[in-house]
Amino acid sequence: MKSQSSTFDKPIDVLISEVGMRDGLQSIASVMPTASKFKWIDALVEAGVREIEVTSFVPAHLMPQLADAAEVVKYAIAKPGLSVISLVPNLKGAQAAIAAGTHKLTIPTSASVAHSLANVRKTREQMLEEVRRIVEYKNAVAPHVEIEAGVSVAFGCTLQGVVPEDDVIWMVEQCIAAGANVSGMADTTGMANPAQVKRLFTRAIAAVGIERLGAAHMHNTRGLGIANCLAAYDVGIRGFDTSMAGLGGCPHAPGASGNVVTEDLAFMFEAMGVRTGIDLEKLIAARQPMIDGLPGEAVYGMLAPAGLTKGFTYAK
Ligand code: ZN
Repeated sequence: MKSQSSTFDKPIDVLISEVGMRDGLQSIASVMPTASKFKWIDALVEAGVREIEVTSFVPAHLMPQLADAAEVVKYAIAKPGLSVISLVPNLKGAQAAIAAGTHKLTIPTSASVAHSLANVRKTREQMLEEVRRIVEYKNAVAPHVEIEAGVSVAFGCTLQGVVPEDDVIWMVEQCIAAGANVSGMADTTGMANPAQVKRLFTRAIAAVGIERLGAAHMHNTRGLGIANCLAAYDVGIRGFDTSMAGLGGCPHAPGASGNVVTEDLAFMFEAMGVRTGIDLEKLIAARQPMIDGLPGEAVYGMLAPAGLTKGFTYAK
């Protein structure tokens, strides 16, 4: 079979954003050596992955896995055409991420009051104030940097339980009003179902416009991750956060991956005729440097063990 080239200049229909290096690594205890992260970035780029959330700028004592944040950003931005994202919980993190040269900041806000306090030790309103401060800072020093303020636990919260849909849409609107370029919704706790995903994304699109919505960030805790991504796609969403090999797992659901598996979602889209720009065989091969850097860590995903279907052709 003829492989696709991995250049970034081909047109794509959906943007798959790899978040394993941040979301995956922060939820496991193992520390991946910086050199392994570099090899993993190389392999992802080689496979045609155009956007990587490479790290989070948080105090190193809280997350030793991400203590090399600035170094990793500097390595990644040297890759021509790659969009490099850093998660920042506050202005201090944003300043460090911008200084390192990150292209895009993602700021986690929460639809649930309880989760907001637990995750960032701020109320939802205080977090929106932080978004405003970060926007103001970046407008002054690095106006080209893009800001995504995502809404966590948009589909349910392990602390609060049901999260009212009005609260979620309100947060999406407030994130945009605070100056974020885009917002997004995350099923942080893996509680979403496809009908709910369609309903909420449809409402969010009506509220702020499709161009103001970034990625759908779905988890596979209960096996509905891929179905939820498809539901979001069906109502117009074209950005998806996924994690190679479902890195990170889910502490509450042994055997279940955390984030949606990058390889599996890319395969679904390509098989459907939706272009991702990703070479699936190279993507499967990109698991190896990740596995080498995290010996003994659980890996997930159905495509890698099963392989591509006989006669598989990429979307054109
Ligand atoms: Zn996640």
